[in-house]
Amino acid sequence: MNIKTFKQGLRLPTRKTATEGKPVETIPAPKQVVIPINQHFGAPNRVLVAVGDHVKRGQKIADAVKPGSLGAPVHASVAGIVRKTEQHLQSNNTDGLCVYIEADAERALTDTAFMPPLDAFACSKDEAVARVRDAGIVGMGGAGFPTHVKLSPPPGKHIDTIIANGAECEPYLTIDEASMVEKTSLLIKGIAIVMRITGVQNAVVGMEDNKASLVPALEQEIRSAGLEGKVSIGLCRTRYPQGGEKLLISALTGRETPSGGLPMDAGCIVSNVGTFIAIAEAFDMGKPLVDRDLTVSGSACKTPKNIRAPIGAMLTDLPQCFMDVDYENLHKILFGGPMMGTSVPTLEIPIQKNTSGVILMTREETASYAEGVCIRCGRCIRRCSCRLSPVLMNIALNTGDLDEAVRAGLMDCIECGACAYICPARIKLTQRFRVGKQLLRAKRQAESAAR
Ligand code: SF4
Ligand code: SF4
Repeated sequence: MNIKTFKQGLRLPTRKTATEGKPVETIPAPKQVVIPINQHFGAPNRVLVAVGDHVKRGQKIADAVKPGSLGAPVHASVAGIVRKTEQHLQSNNTDGLCVYIEADAERALTDTAFMPPLDAFACSKDEAVARVRDAGIVGMGGAGFPTHVKLSPPPGKHIDTIIANGAECEPYLTIDEASMVEKTSLLIKGIAIVMRITGVQNAVVGMEDNKASLVPALEQEIRSAGLEGKVSIGLCRTRYPQGGEKLLISALTGRETPSGGLPMDAGCIVSNVGTFIAIAEAFDMGKPLVDRDLTVSGSACKTPKNIRAPIGAMLTDLPQCFMDVDYENLHKILFGGPMMGTSVPTLEIPIQKNTSGVILMTREETASYAEGVCIRCGRCIRRCSCRLSPVLMNIALNTGDLDEAVRAGLMDCIECGACAYICPARIKLTQRFRVGKQLLRAKRQAESAAR
């Protein structure tokens, strides 16, 4: 098979052996879940339940304030009683409104209010898109963009390729691989459903060549589904950040996504493999997005695993359930992978729809260095897969010149961390770009409010 790739990027130590090949274990229902009501990119939700209400697993507990706005509903992940709605620290390190549900001791996972199954190939396109929305499905690879919106590109956008992103290029994470092994049939079915909704006749499962062993099973499933010639496997060189959607598009189709553009501007719809599986479950079982499969790893986790947890389960529930954490040496907690994940200060944080992994790191694993002075070596430029000039963006941000940082490419930065990783002066480039983007958004909001 022809191995594809993109330009620049890094070869990183993968550190996946601790959980590679391990099955996904379902954790017992926790006593309580804390479910953030806004787990998507877009307009805010409002709470639909009151304190004291009995809710079933799969019942909608939050939805858009304004019907029709960009958003996705949120559902109870366990059956139980709503105890309170309160602000709580979330995985992005901001406080957000959460619904606290005390789980029913007997029927937390069995007392359900799922939707009736729906035949995706017999219903209308509008019904199918509505099902994806009603199931609360958002991109599970990180950004949390509402999936039903992706499936309805605006007029004038010609989509000809669906890409299932199974690259999983972040070190430590193996949950996409485990899902592709255990839910091959649901993955291919989810792809078929998206092809049916969008009318696109070409789809590719993109993954790095360190997962080449999965190809025969995927090809077998594609044949069984009668999708030969329409769905293919695209093997890409194991190279960071291969899972970035623009880079995956470039590797698989040879197309460039324009600056400031979206995958649809390159004729593609890209979603994580977990999202396709969630779509298939929403049709086959009527199941909303109430569980999340994730990897828990890192040297401070003595029993690294791939697990399935109800959304809203707290990290503190995991050790209580069945994980063994080396608290003495626990130095850093990361939501997501070590390159693009967010460091959080406590285990008192709920698992969300976009939590692909939690990495518990020791001090030895998290070498911290003092920042030096830029020596203008240009390595950051050579490694930036988006072909930006990190050094110039950094200089502009250091002088407070946001416009110059934008001209140097700030808004096209995918925050992959490759430049910071390679920088000999250990300059926290990616961190600065994140802050720069926040400052820019705040500036634009202020300008718009002033207008
Ligand atoms: S890699 Fe670091 S030291 Fe080299 S040019 Fe870029 S910012 Fe400067
Ligand atoms: S500038 Fe952004 S996209 Fe380029 S390497 Fe750095 S973090 Fe990645």
